[in-house]
Amino acid sequence: YTRFLYTSLSPHRYSPNPSKTQTVQTVQQTFKSGYTRPLKFRRHQLEQLWRLIDENTDALCEVLYKDLRKHRNEATLGELVTTKEDINDALVHLEEWAKDERTTPSFINRVGTTCIKRKEPKGAVLVIAPWNYPVYLALTPLVGAIAAGCSAVLKPSEVAPHSARLIAELVPRYLDNKAFMVINGGAPETTQLLDHKWDHIFYTGNGTVAKIIMKAAAKHLTSLTLELGGKSPVIIDENANMAVAAKRIAFGKAFNAGQTCIAPDYVLVTAKAEEKLIPALKNAYLEMYGSDPQASKDYGRIVNTRHFKRLCNVLMENKSGDVVIGGQADENDLFIAPTVIANVERDDKLMEEEIFGPLLPLIRVTDIDDAIEYINSKDEPLALYIFSTNKKLINKVLDSTRSGGVLVNDTLMHVSENSLPFGGTGPSGMGAYHGRHSFDTFTHVRSTMIKGLSPMMESAMAIRYAPYTPQGLSI
Ligand code: NAD
Repeated sequence: YTRFLYTSLSPHRYSPNPSKTQTVQTVQQTFKSGYTRPLKFRRHQLEQLWRLIDENTDALCEVLYKDLRKHRNEATLGELVTTKEDINDALVHLEEWAKDERTTPSFINRVGTTCIKRKEPKGAVLVIAPWNYPVYLALTPLVGAIAAGCSAVLKPSEVAPHSARLIAELVPRYLDNKAFMVINGGAPETTQLLDHKWDHIFYTGNGTVAKIIMKAAAKHLTSLTLELGGKSPVIIDENANMAVAAKRIAFGKAFNAGQTCIAPDYVLVTAKAEEKLIPALKNAYLEMYGSDPQASKDYGRIVNTRHFKRLCNVLMENKSGDVVIGGQADENDLFIAPTVIANVERDDKLMEEEIFGPLLPLIRVTDIDDAIEYINSKDEPLALYIFSTNKKLINKVLDSTRSGGVLVNDTLMHVSENSLPFGGTGPSGMGAYHGRHSFDTFTHVRSTMIKGLSPMMESAMAIRYAPYTPQGLSI
């Protein structure tokens, strides 16, 4: 009946994909019925999500291997443990996050007034996930949505098909089917989903598609979280411990074969730092993957031929610099070696777009001011990495640049820190999540003011009622 009503009311708008429309309607109606609001329900769903991961760890690792050839350690650390941590955090703090907060009324309302910040779920939300961490980036936003009391439709990425299929199989087995549903597909399916009126859209992916999502959200004035990417720079102080810095940079760039939104995109180095950095990077890669990284079981693969070709083209079209580490590629195996290109010109191909692969350009700078100026000439990145123990230098970089987040003396690890919000700024994103911030993202803080209705109060309020004094108020 509802489907009939829906199509008969708006026959042109909603092109008939009955199952999708039905899914959206179910999830929306479930929210409206109040079903997802009780803390007991949220807690149970969070526990079920935890079980989904716990009881299917092998299967999840297997699909991550099939999609990206992730080693079990990378799958566990980068996708499963991180999601479970977020669930644990929500389970421990749910009551605290969700409880009403009393505020102290200001002078004008001081008498007989109670002010409360109510934490209300935003409603029925749409989560659109990308392919590079296909489990983590699909399920972690869901943690926030469940904790906040929302219902949700999850759209995994078609670019990681094995993960997408398994998620669509597992979610209905573990989560409440009326409240949380998965729809698989690519751009056409997402476009259809975006036609509906959502109460919040949470999108992770590239900036070009983000503009499409934003346009669709604008039609209904729907609030948005955009978790995007960008070229995350690394600054290295020439006095830093180069062996440790190189190992941590190599880790951040080679994890998931560089297909990480916060992977170090390029390194800004002085000539003196570069002299020490190149051998240190060589050593770090050698220690991690041996002399033939293609033979290493620990090193991932490029997700598909399209991205493989994109990366090879970027490397080929880049005119400046010298490949000092790696450079090998094998299309049949979707393998690209950890590759370092020294002396890349600032306006060359490698410096145009987010690399999103294991290619690491080194850009020469004269000093820290030059590095800062270069960073500021580009879009605000998602992450900024500084390797230094010089507090003055660190503070100078912090005070004179912008980025979604900053990590000093390591790479990637800030994403796993639930006490910090994770998100971009400007072209690297809008909004943030993880831990409490995920709860806040899917929550509307509803300002609620309650006054008494006693006639005794009227004399205190007389000043606001007409007839006013002819001379007016003086303040
Ligand atoms: P993707 O190709 O999987 O796309 C993301 C989602 O958008 C998918 O679900 C896809 O189906 C959908 N989509 C694609 N085209 C669409 C269209 N025309 N209309 C509507 N929906 C569409 O992933 P991607 O964009 O290649 O992901 C990589 C990008 O994501 C990188 O820029 C990376 O930095 C960024 N990223 C950011 C984060 C973060 O947390 N900030 C995390 C991972 C990736």
